[in-house]
Amino acid sequence: MKEKLQDLLLQSLIDQKEIFGDELFETKNLKRRTSVEFEPQTERSEEVKAQKEIIPTKTLSSKKEIIKEIPLIEEPKENWQFSNSLDELNQLICECQKCPLGKTRNKFVFGSGNPNADVLVVGEGPGADEDAQGLPFVGRAGKLLTDILKAINFSREEVYIANIVKCRPPGNRTPLPAEMQSCLPYLKKQIELIKPKAILCLGLTSAHGLLKKKESLTNMRGKVFDFDKTKVMVTYHPAALLRNPNWKRGCWEDVQLFRKLYDELANIK
Ligand code: SF4
Repeated sequence: MKEKLQDLLLQSLIDQKEIFGDELFETKNLKRRTSVEFEPQTERSEEVKAQKEIIPTKTLSSKKEIIKEIPLIEEPKENWQFSNSLDELNQLICECQKCPLGKTRNKFVFGSGNPNADVLVVGEGPGADEDAQGLPFVGRAGKLLTDILKAINFSREEVYIANIVKCRPPGNRTPLPAEMQSCLPYLKKQIELIKPKAILCLGLTSAHGLLKKKESLTNMRGKVFDFDKTKVMVTYHPAALLRNPNWKRGCWEDVQLFRKLYDELANIK
């Protein structure tokens, strides 16, 4: 009897070696393994399967619940965000030091024009003349802008003019992305208060700053974009036209299209 058992055990070990190599499996584990692998789809196996699926789902939903339960910490609103008029906004932000341009400016340039304008013109930032006077688009570029607006039957007084940044970048350099990022909420608030029908961006920096696009000026000209619910078109900056008068023709074509857009929006025939 003992010998028979030894033979059976030996045969079993030989069989195992043939199948699994040098790894030794206990018969009870082997049985459990094969029974799970080949178990027919009974109620029990469905139950196990369901449990397997439920466990991660439950964990996930509880994580979601936990996330839901964590209150979102909102940045406290600043006083200027509650402004009800441009004058109030100007008073609340004119001493801003949120970016390094605040330290080097001479005068803060909020913007100027009709507070109920249907057209908002957005430039890049104040230059030397603007920084000295605290007004946007004065000097030669400003005079050219007045002429451009006149050419499409807008007076300077009926539009509103502002910039992406409200303080002059030293040496008239292009404002840095972080500086634009710091200043843009003010322009957004101005847009919210003015509620223009259309916005004309002057130059690539203005277009990139407002529309957050990375396209070239050539690609953006002649197209209509959306900023929130306001239509936006793009053309050359007047200072660029002073440097390269060959672009004036292109600018003329752009502003004609802008006037057409404005007329459509204002339902003027
Ligand atoms: S550029 Fe804008 S954000 Fe920077 S200091 Fe001037 S107002 Fe403030």
